[in-house]
Amino acid sequence: MTEKYIKNAEFNLIHNQVALIKDSYKKNAAPNVIQAVKDLANTKIIELFPNATIEQKEMLDLSALKTDQEYDKYMKQLQDYLIPFPKISEAQLKKMFPKNKKLKLPDLDKINLDQLSYLSWVDISTNKKFIVFELEEKMVGIECKYNLLQKDNICSFCNRFGQVAYISTITKAKKAKNPDYYKAIGNYICFDSKECNKKITNVDYLTTFLQESLGEKTVQ
Ligand SMILES: [Zn+2]
Repeated sequence: MTEKYIKNAEFNLIHNQVALIKDSYKKNAAPNVIQAVKDLANTKIIELFPNATIEQKEMLDLSALKTDQEYDKYMKQLQDYLIPFPKISEAQLKKMFPKNKKLKLPDLDKINLDQLSYLSWVDISTNKKFIVFELEEKMVGIECKYNLLQKDNICSFCNRFGQVAYISTITKAKKAKNPDYYKAIGNYICFDSKECNKKITNVDYLTTFLQESLGEKTVQ
């Protein structure tokens, strides 16, 4: 058995591609159309894993699959290779937010770490949303003020249209020529981070957001 090698966001992307293929079968699309959808899906999936071994490539190849059952089996098999979110303790979380003396902690036992790109929870009493993410192999956390919006919008992290919260954080990012500069970053993100984690297919935006918030990136 090869080691776990699929990240949550990658798994979600594969899931979306499989859904497209299943859908074209269901709509009785012409064989050449289905073939094109499958070829594109295969290309996108393989591109995610440039260092895949032969065994992994075989496992990821979906070109021979036809029925819903075959695709379900394919997804189920890939699930075994999901890299879980790093295990984290309450003590570690507290250390990430040293200034917050009344830190509300998430119920870590109830969170499915297998399907997580980032860990998030809210403190309703203070309107704060916490985000924990692995940045360059180091677990980091930020806290943001949030406002729940009445109108649905697109989430910056996962691009899903749904219930969002407006989050804002003051970054520690400094402008090279102006040491007093502080930039506030605002974003619409899913209020329900469990849903967000199921939809996110790319963590680039999330990564940049965390880097900027933590001041690890110079603002231009
Ligand atoms: Zn989202």
